[in-house]
Amino acid sequence: MQNFEYQRADNIEAALSATHGSPTARFIGGGTNLTDYMALGVMRPELLIDINHLPPQYAQIESDERRLRLGALVRMGQAEDDAVVRSRYPVIRDALALAASRQVRNMATLGGNILQRTRCEYFRGTGFACNKRTPGSGCAALGGIDRAHAVLGTSENCIAAYAGDFAQALIALDATVATVGGQGGPRSIPFGQLHRLPQDAPQLETTLSAGELITHIEVPAGPWTARSRYLKVRDRDSYQFALASAAVALHLEDGMVREARIALGGVATVPWRAREAEALLSGKRLDEALAQRAAEAAFAGARVGRHNAFKVPLGKRTVVRALLEVHTMSV
Ligand code: SF4
Repeated sequence: MQNFEYQRADNIEAALSATHGSPTARFIGGGTNLTDYMALGVMRPELLIDINHLPPQYAQIESDERRLRLGALVRMGQAEDDAVVRSRYPVIRDALALAASRQVRNMATLGGNILQRTRCEYFRGTGFACNKRTPGSGCAALGGIDRAHAVLGTSENCIAAYAGDFAQALIALDATVATVGGQGGPRSIPFGQLHRLPQDAPQLETTLSAGELITHIEVPAGPWTARSRYLKVRDRDSYQFALASAAVALHLEDGMVREARIALGGVATVPWRAREAEALLSGKRLDEALAQRAAEAAFAGARVGRHNAFKVPLGKRTVVRALLEVHTMSV
């Protein structure tokens, strides 16, 4: 690990001015992802700005009938335990509770979690070619072991899967992210516009500018939020990343699907909204055959590699099961 400077910020102004807009400065909250990558030599910030001592509003959960507002410094475990999240936004509760371990969730912040970086082993191993870590160096995963990699949203420069769970719930519920600082803030970013496809610049993972800080996440309440869940399939049932996952929320009226929201994880390079599948369900009575058609639509654009073709049927089954379970859940 290379040497770095450390500064503690007690308010937003101090945090923002400490960065000087430098791309080598990083905010640190829980640090569960950042320090891991610093120890591996993958991330080499010259300055860490500790934001754990910002005023309490950045670590609070607020809600009313219109929305859920989560401070960026709320810990994952804190949100998972929140009574409103558990009863009115179960897809968020599920996505948090199925991530990492409880010890990690007690440390990790929501703001940091949505910015977590890929677990591609070639990205984590500094001896491999990786366009995301060293732009222009190539991609060792192409032609390598790609079992954990994405089948949706890939490019010829990067096929790394987005690793998180919480983000799938947020994109499905049309959340927004509030930021300050940098060249963009203060602003409110629709969650679907936060992450960037790898295309020809996989090193650019989000639309945040240098020194821009996420302060809150806002989730609008709707008739679909209570009828929702997150289903995660993985190699072992604890402390493991998704091979395939689905965040599903349904608004039912007289037994018909008025509105469906579906997001996929473990299979795509970014949090992935399956809008073709959603459109197929709208206005129809859900049964297994229709859920299967929606799942087919969700993976129509999949491109598989040498070892990850199994993710397509697995992902489809995950979508079907999540849809059917949400359809029959009691609200
Ligand atoms: Fe790097 Fe992406 Fe290739 Fe993995 S898939 S080695 S992160 S460029």
